[in-house]
Amino acid sequence: MSRIFMILFLLLSSSFGAIRHFSLYKKNGSILSNRLLVIGGIHGNEPGAYFAPSVLVTHYKITKGSLWVIPNLNFDSDVTNSRGLYGDMNRKFAYIKKNDKDFKIVRDIKKIITNPKVDLILNLHDGHGFYREAWENKTFNPQAWGQACIIDQDSVKSKKFGNLKEIATKVANQLNNHLMKKYHLFHIKNTQTRLKDKAMRLSLTYYAINQNKPAFAIETSKNIKPLYKKVFYQLRAIEGFMKQMGIEYTRDFKLTPKSVKKVLANYGTATINNNTITSLNDVRRYLKYFPLKRRKNQIKGKDPLLALVKRRGHFDIMVGNILLSSLSPDYKKQEKCLETLPMRIDGKKYNAKIASIVDVKGSFSTRANSKYRINVIGFSKRNVYNENAIKIRKKDINKYYSMDYNKSQFRIEIYKKKTYCGMVVVNFKN
Ligand SMILES: [Zn+2]
Repeated sequence: MSRIFMILFLLLSSSFGAIRHFSLYKKNGSILSNRLLVIGGIHGNEPGAYFAPSVLVTHYKITKGSLWVIPNLNFDSDVTNSRGLYGDMNRKFAYIKKNDKDFKIVRDIKKIITNPKVDLILNLHDGHGFYREAWENKTFNPQAWGQACIIDQDSVKSKKFGNLKEIATKVANQLNNHLMKKYHLFHIKNTQTRLKDKAMRLSLTYYAINQNKPAFAIETSKNIKPLYKKVFYQLRAIEGFMKQMGIEYTRDFKLTPKSVKKVLANYGTATINNNTITSLNDVRRYLKYFPLKRRKNQIKGKDPLLALVKRRGHFDIMVGNILLSSLSPDYKKQEKCLETLPMRIDGKKYNAKIASIVDVKGSFSTRANSKYRINVIGFSKRNVYNENAIKIRKKDINKYYSMDYNKSQFRIEIYKKKTYCGMVVVNFKN
């Protein structure tokens, strides 16, 4: 009986809840110290607020203290670039209905916020305009949110870091030492939530401070474009908080707008269903006849914001709100029939792992077992159905079928009768 209930519950939760849940990345230094929780992506149309924590996950190493990062709290909204696909998640922390699609996410993040190990919480946003204490114009005024450290009140009863205003002031002062433009100046915005701001009483940070947890929102400005400039400021702010908390780290790039731009432009590769791969840098906007399953396709890569989003008739590879490629699916029965594909590359024997990219200078041929059929996409030879054991050079393949705009990456697909077994991608180096 209980098992039936479990299954029913799973069915119900999968049909009523959000499609994607957030992920929590824990980075612990070898020396114990304070723990910072960074939450990004609560509003899906604020990309600075989820690409910055994504860079924290992939490019930072903590040496002292701990950093917990959630880059994609509202993942369904992030990959659809909407503020809140199921309503504004940041207004669901005082009360949420059980049948709300965000219910599970809000319940789970509350548990992490109240975890006694967490010392301080940052909730990241891109806000409109530039916050100023006095009205200057439509963009610079007290109602704007951009370029501000938001606090709900001056202090909170907490053993550590309770002096919210003082900490925010120190961070803002530090931020203001390195501005790309003078008007990007950071300010402290105290919403005086308990007394004055009814809407903010429903928010994540107000929930946190009512649990006596120090919490801040960092708002970069939506008016600052392009994306990397917002990410630069978000990272500077987060580093400022880490400094206040005695958390130490290393990162594998220099924190300048230029290198943040470079870091963001490298998406790495995506592996789909453990049998199919594509590079994401320079990938074509459309990939046709792509082997996929009708349901439950899994995508993996280095980027925590990577997702495969099903739309009408096709699938989009997204990194956050950035569309990298649309796949038109070729639905075939799938099975992992083999681990490696024997090949000859530039005259040498090579066992290529399924779902890997291999470099080729001159030519390649596959040497699969006779029960497999090889299809090199873009290659054809009259009266040949199985392209196994044929020496193929770059000029033998129709460049129109490349996976990349540079026209150097091509798919080798492996089949057993009508079953798709997997893919190896060849990358011609010249
Ligand atoms: Zn926001």
